[in-house]
Amino acid sequence: MASLQSASLSSFLDFSNNSNIFGSTLKLGGSDLTLFRISTNFTKTNPVLRLKASRISPELTKEAENIREKMSEETLNVHDPFCDVKQRFLSFKKDVYLKNLEHYQNLAETQSPKFTVIACADSRVCPSNILGFQPGDAFTVRNVANLVLPFETGPPETKAALEFSVNTLQVENILVIGHSRCGGIRALMSMQDEEEDSRSFIKSWVTFGKNARASTKAVASNLNLDSQCRHCEKESINHSLMNLLTYPWIKERVAKGTLSLHGGYYDFVDGTFEKWTLDYNHKVEDGQMCSIKSREFWS
Ligand SMILES: [Zn+2]
Repeated sequence: MASLQSASLSSFLDFSNNSNIFGSTLKLGGSDLTLFRISTNFTKTNPVLRLKASRISPELTKEAENIREKMSEETLNVHDPFCDVKQRFLSFKKDVYLKNLEHYQNLAETQSPKFTVIACADSRVCPSNILGFQPGDAFTVRNVANLVLPFETGPPETKAALEFSVNTLQVENILVIGHSRCGGIRALMSMQDEEEDSRSFIKSWVTFGKNARASTKAVASNLNLDSQCRHCEKESINHSLMNLLTYPWIKERVAKGTLSLHGGYYDFVDGTFEKWTLDYNHKVEDGQMCSIKSREFWS
């Protein structure tokens, strides 16, 4: 990290080495990055610049150095993504946190979200961003392709979040959100059957969605890959909803009517959101597929 930043700075200023840059390299990469200064003695040690500087007035030379110094600072700032992050946090603190201090002090003591949200890790589909969830609103789990595995199989990460949010926080709704152009679903639909033992973490993970893949292939194998992926993006949500019912404590609360399971599909190509709710009364106990109710299309 340090060497990369040094190289970038050196390249920008066309320096032959970094000895003209004040500051410890230990500070590179951190918030102290902007504390770096270009040595005003640089022209004294660089014969080319010294020759050019001798032909113009000292005032202009000084001004040029100031401009160069300012440009170097701005360039460093542009290269540090945490400058924007820091400003966004400070704006949040000033405009939101401090103006709702009592609310945030209450949140510091406890949380009682109404939703557990399971969404894809994709950077384009942040639930808080697209659905406006505020701190305290939604206990959120994100994984590649927003998969919920059955109770008896798979790694425990999402299960731990479900256990805590359903049993301890007593959320009233679980919302599984899928989305358009999901890379995880595309990886799943692009796999060959013999690839299931792949060393790729992505393929190993999305393989857990193989039932959604199989049901998609069963009805959409004549379609092109893009269409199959779109079908599977929604199909996998329903499989995740059905998998949620394999958790005894979820099924129990759904049966009591204290917990509802919802699917959501965010299409960021046309800017729409589809939402539906699982109808427990018509589901698996009598061997039927789960039905859907309250389907809505937000556009
Ligand atoms: Zn995705």
